[in-house]
Amino acid sequence: MSTAQSNEVILSGIRPTGRLHYGNYFGAIWHFLRLQQTDACCYYFIADYHALTTITDRQEIYRATLDMLRTYVACGLDPEKSVIYRQSDLPCTAELTLLLGMVTNIGHLERGTTYKDKLAKVQDDPKIAGNPLSYGLLGYPVLMAADILIVRADAVPVGDDQRQHLEMACDIAAKFNHRFGEVLHIPRPLGRDALRLPGLDGSEKMGKSENNTLDLLDDPQTVLRKIKAVPTTTDPLPLDTDSDAPEVVIPKMPPGVGVLYRLLSLLAPEDVYLEFLGQYRAGGKFYGALKKTVAEHVSNFNAPIIEKYHDPANNDTSIEDFLRENAKRVTPVALETVEACREAMGIGRSLYRA
Ligand code: ATP
Ligand code: MG
Repeated sequence: MSTAQSNEVILSGIRPTGRLHYGNYFGAIWHFLRLQQTDACCYYFIADYHALTTITDRQEIYRATLDMLRTYVACGLDPEKSVIYRQSDLPCTAELTLLLGMVTNIGHLERGTTYKDKLAKVQDDPKIAGNPLSYGLLGYPVLMAADILIVRADAVPVGDDQRQHLEMACDIAAKFNHRFGEVLHIPRPLGRDALRLPGLDGSEKMGKSENNTLDLLDDPQTVLRKIKAVPTTTDPLPLDTDSDAPEVVIPKMPPGVGVLYRLLSLLAPEDVYLEFLGQYRAGGKFYGALKKTVAEHVSNFNAPIIEKYHDPANNDTSIEDFLRENAKRVTPVALETVEACREAMGIGRSLYRA
């Protein structure tokens, strides 16, 4: 992933739609941790407004938000170094969404992958649970544009799955500026080389809403159970013998096997990884040992995160406290952006904020 430049504003968010998984960690949090060591100004938010397109239980969403923040801290995100806030603590984001909606073409939104995927699911099963085809879901990219533009982000670390939404945010900002003057700051993506971790079921993407995740808070028994259930065929696919590079080899494996090797490459020392790669080349019965090794490395990785998550200092009250503090840190720039947009559009500054 390309790096931030000095003093750049970085922004990224995660939806509190379930527990954080390995895709979230290696696709997003790992980069957050690296960026917080630089002198960039990092804003990381829990996207609870966005989660409302999926979660309909009011207690679940609040609980999931706090749990996710505790997991952030347990992973090493430092509220002293990064501004970590809850999206709904900046309600002016909703106002900016409304303003940006005025320059957003419906056809553009209908081409959004998230919307199109849900539309296909609803067409397959019209009685699907929840609120899948809402106005909120269609407008998801506009809210995401508001999240990014409101803090005047310079760079946005995006996973492979979010790239299209960031491009939409930049298009919306460019259109706004074209019509109303150079008000909004257009960011650039960080992470052209972002990894997309497949699901444990072998599907293309591990995702909180897909029921195919390996979670950072999974205990050793759960890890073992989940890893044992990863589908593996007994016949390895032929390898591309032109190259020994592991990165080249992984995509040619059957999907379940591919995710096991991907996890091994992320967590185990290189010699362990290469040894199993050699076994794959040689064929034979090694999936039991591979699964056991992957499960051990995953459990070792999870152990300190679980310990810190349960640390009494990392409790709901301390999380609520730093949420309040961090909302105060991000509010001034957010209000300034919304006021500038209002003025540019001709409705003037808001009286109650003056
Ligand atoms: P949901 O299923 O509710 O959409 P999710 O698991 O896709 O949840 P998000 O909250 O949408 O997670 O994404 C948070 C961050 O994690 C984003 O930066 C996204 O790119 C990244 N991410 C999510 N899943 C993966 C994955 N499988 N591999 C790599 N990065 C991922
Ligand atoms: Mg997602």
